Amino acid sequence: MIEIGSQMVTGLWGHMQQRFGSQVSPKNTSEMMRAAAALLDTLDIQERDQFMERFVTTVGRTIYTPFSVGQATPIWTLPEQLRVAVHEHTHVVQGDREGWVVYDTRYLASSSHRAGYEAEAYGSDMEIEWWMSNGKFNPYDFALSRARSLKSYACSEADICQAAATMALRAGLVIQGYVESEAAKVAIEWLGRWQT
Ligand SMILES: [Zn+2]
Repeated sequence: MIEIGSQMVTGLWGHMQQRFGSQVSPKNTSEMMRAAAALLDTLDIQERDQFMERFVTTVGRTIYTPFSVGQATPIWTLPEQLRVAVHEHTHVVQGDREGWVVYDTRYLASSSHRAGYEAEAYGSDMEIEWWMSNGKFNPYDFALSRARSLKSYACSEADICQAAATMALRAGLVIQGYVESEAAKVAIEWLGRWQT
């Protein structure tokens, strides 16, 4: 297991922001995030506190975090903060690739697109987890549990099954050492340099 320290996490987030042109904003002081939390709660899609405390949310190039980068909490440990940097920047890459209006509309309006985008982002999580654990991480377990977590994203059962299949295929590539996602590539390259 790679030793993950506070400076390493802060440095990686800084590097990713510079590389992908993103910014980090505290979730709990954002009016938009509070409004979104209230709406999701009212619609019974996701409980308010869960959305505010357990989920990082990316809107455009702004990443709203429920933690201060580099300060570990029981929920947001340093390895989790490192993993989520890669996850959220994969959403930035998706928005750039597809155009932000198309991406946001599909993400919000379509269960299958949302499940597909998340499955792709979880694939990049697996790549960074594999790197952090020196190959000890089990991507198949991760694929299954993350597929189940898509229930919290109001995805349909059929779309969750599709996402699970996609992630299981990706897990097979991860254990062969493939790093396909741009965000994971950038992170692993930087972390490798930082270590030496
Ligand atoms: Zn995501």
